Amino acid sequence: MAFEGLAGRLQETFNKLRGKGKVTEEDVNQTMREVRLALLEADVNFKVVKDFISRVKERAVGQEVLKSLTPGQQVIKVVNEELTKLMGGTQSKLTFAPKPPTIIMMVGLQGAGKTTHTGKLAKYLLKQNKQPLLVAADIYRPAAIKQLQVLGEQLQVPVYSMGDKVSPVEIAKNAIQYAKEQHRDVVIIDTAGRLHIDEALMDELNQIRGEVHPHEIMLVVDAMTGQDAVNVAQTFNERLQLTGVILTKLDGDTRGGAAISVKAVTGCPIKFVGMGEKLDSLEPFYPDRMASRILG
Ligand code: GDP
Repeated sequence: MAFEGLAGRLQETFNKLRGKGKVTEEDVNQTMREVRLALLEADVNFKVVKDFISRVKERAVGQEVLKSLTPGQQVIKVVNEELTKLMGGTQSKLTFAPKPPTIIMMVGLQGAGKTTHTGKLAKYLLKQNKQPLLVAADIYRPAAIKQLQVLGEQLQVPVYSMGDKVSPVEIAKNAIQYAKEQHRDVVIIDTAGRLHIDEALMDELNQIRGEVHPHEIMLVVDAMTGQDAVNVAQTFNERLQLTGVILTKLDGDTRGGAAISVKAVTGCPIKFVGMGEKLDSLEPFYPDRMASRILG
């Protein structure tokens, strides 16, 4: 289960606070020292933790909180609100084009779950009565095209492919023309990944972006990689101006750092989370629910 360690630590800390009839400034400081350590251990970015703690303290040591009837609860409420804000505040929804097709570009490193999530997103859109078209623009990983075609068959969604001899830019451009002809209203482009970020990959993704002007550029990152996921998001965002993040493998025992830090570090919201290998294990990301889950 994700966040187990963090949730356990925070609950322990808050239970001590709840038990107190009167809460002093020193109690708040002690609580926040423990919260700080718990967040750092969960692999939350150092600067994000520092800013978070100071924001909570500023609000929590106010007389309104300490002199209230349930000061412990009020401090916890402040932590909950600030954590929700940190993760984006409200849910960030997908942007659809005013005039279809909506173009979604899926980017990310190899193994993060990009192709799987291209399929999951198609399934999610089908449920909203959309008519997606999947585009096989990863021409380097030998099995990628086949993998997407299998997903397409499972979902009964068409997959546009031109094999692996045509440039991804050309494939993407032609796919959009095809979508218009076939009245497919959302085009999801599965782009190539690499094991590490490199210039050639970024150039290629930028070329596709320049050609097709996507409405969404979604980064698929693996939550299990913690701070690395945040660094990857930052680099991709600098080069491509991401519109959203899909955080995958949240069904694993990830410590939570990526979920908490991505938005604060990159400014880019998490729009979905991947909760398993199956095609229906995609969930919209709700910062408030995630905060409550983390705080127990
Ligand atoms: P890509 O290289 O980024 O296209 O990655 P794939 O889509 O091929 O996924 C890599 C592996 O991660 C596959 O074995 C997937 O089944 C697995 N995977 C993808 N998303 C999730 C997820 O949300 N949870 C879990 N547990 N596994 C996932």
